[in-house]
Amino acid sequence: MKITKAEFITSAVAPDHYPVHELPEVALAGRSNVGKSSFINKICQRKALARTSSKPGKTQTLNFFNINDEIMFVDVPGYGYAKVSKTEREKWGVMMEQYLTTQQALRGVVLLVDIRHEPTGDDVTMYNFLKHYDIPVIVVATKLDKIKKSQRQKHESAVKRKLQFDPSDRFVAFSAETAEGKDEAWKAIYDLLTR
Ligand code: GDP
Repeated sequence: MKITKAEFITSAVAPDHYPVHELPEVALAGRSNVGKSSFINKICQRKALARTSSKPGKTQTLNFFNINDEIMFVDVPGYGYAKVSKTEREKWGVMMEQYLTTQQALRGVVLLVDIRHEPTGDDVTMYNFLKHYDIPVIVVATKLDKIKKSQRQKHESAVKRKLQFDPSDRFVAFSAETAEGKDEAWKAIYDLLTR
């Protein structure tokens, strides 16, 4: 996958701010610090296309990126940051729900989880939400380089068990350090577009 263009288009919090375009959209979601920015930057071969999300005080927006004039990536702000206020959490929920349930161009969601740990309650809620609305999901398990090869299967099984992973979804183990899983992630993303 050669990336010739990876361009920030706009930020939006509500449907009337979503950019008007013809591209299929793929959203990326995960708890803050899971490695979502690192994933986006690595697969797009850019150093700082996506910036670390969900720092307190930072505006929580959906960020749209045109990739190769083929796909619009929609970076969803990370959830689960402990210091975020209840009001901000509620705003985040409304923004997410509006986007995921009304956006016609959405082809699927890349849900990032940390392969080292059991998915959090928020991760499970997000996965169930996507399943409930019948939105195709690719689970990307990040930070693969941080576990021993011999432990991979065990961790993958634990993640899948906790999510009650649907075998018709795709699962990709990924490392932003080594780029392992990058081609597989692109393949899974492209497959969303041709479903
Ligand atoms: P975000 O909040 O989900 O966007 O997370 P970031 O991409 O900013 O990553 C959070 C932290 O995890 C940073 O210190 C990254 O360098 C680190 N990180 C992200 N992905 C990986 C990975 O695959 N391997 C390792 N070893 N560290 C990672």
